[in-house]
Amino acid sequence: MPYQEWKAGEPCELHGQGWCSLCKPHPHLPEHVYMTNGWSAAFHSRVTCKGLVSGQNRVASHGGDPADVVRVAVSKPISDGKFPCQICSPQFGGIVPSAD
Ligand SMILES: [Zn+2]
Ligand SMILES: [Zn+2]
Repeated sequence: MPYQEWKAGEPCELHGQGWCSLCKPHPHLPEHVYMTNGWSAAFHSRVTCKGLVSGQNRVASHGGDPADVVRVAVSKPISDGKFPCQICSPQFGGIVPSAD
């Protein structure tokens, strides 16, 4: 959900709760981001990100099966402790996901 809606007390999709702390969007991050189901600890603001594509290619060049790229609400990777990719999201660098 957009930060504005969260701030206005709109119920979240997952829990139907206003001001849900688990679903609190980050005001400076896109609402949805891209990540793989694989080992990467980064998430991306663009599906065309070089970091994302080259990671996939690296896996493929080693004979591996690149993990699927999935579009997720940004709260998901943040709650998993992942961080924004420095290639496509340098403006978001330095965000330390908090546990609360
Ligand atoms: Zn929620
Ligand atoms: Zn990226």
